[in-house]
Amino acid sequence: MIFSYSTPPTGGSQKSHTIKCAELLTSTVCKIAVFTHRKELTSQAIRKTTLINLSLKVSIGTLHALWQNINLAFIDIKKAITKAKLITKTYTVQINNANFTIYEVDITCSVCGTHVETLEHLILHCPCLQRECMYNLEKIGEFITEIFYCNTWIYITANDFRAVKFILDASNLINVLPALKQTPNLHQIKHLTRNLCYDLHRRRTVILSL
Ligand SMILES: [Zn+2]
Repeated sequence: MIFSYSTPPTGGSQKSHTIKCAELLTSTVCKIAVFTHRKELTSQAIRKTTLINLSLKVSIGTLHALWQNINLAFIDIKKAITKAKLITKTYTVQINNANFTIYEVDITCSVCGTHVETLEHLILHCPCLQRECMYNLEKIGEFITEIFYCNTWIYITANDFRAVKFILDASNLINVLPALKQTPNLHQIKHLTRNLCYDLHRRRTVILSL
């Protein structure tokens, strides 16, 4: 607002002083606003973040693990894109639609019509997608059991939130499962989980287009 008033042409030092005052005022107002609404902003950030499932431990100039080890075959690129959409919550499950629109959205799963359609529901629990889900989870579980202790897969799948984080980006669990640091293991898991995501997406699309 200060800039909207004309100031007398009294030399550079006063002009610079006015600009500094305006910047200080703007900065103070922003700090007060953020402080006042911190709780609400934090709550909204947690609820609406689209990056909660994505491991951000990647250096600038390095390809994110999500895009590594992908063949240039058309189908493999489609699988990677589907998974990228799921990871960044730009895949159209109903709960995401509801979070990002001012309009009222029915959050019931459009595929089974019985539960709220969250990522956990889509990836693990939708009754209409259980065949694709079980088939791929069995393959992932077999591989995990080969490289870890046999109860590791039980640990991963005991919690829906953890399981989805693992399926979408296994790098998220490197801290608790250090063997994932070995690139071939990580690449194989990413390959298997891409297949799971794509099979679910393909089946869901078929059902929705009937
Ligand atoms: Zn469903």
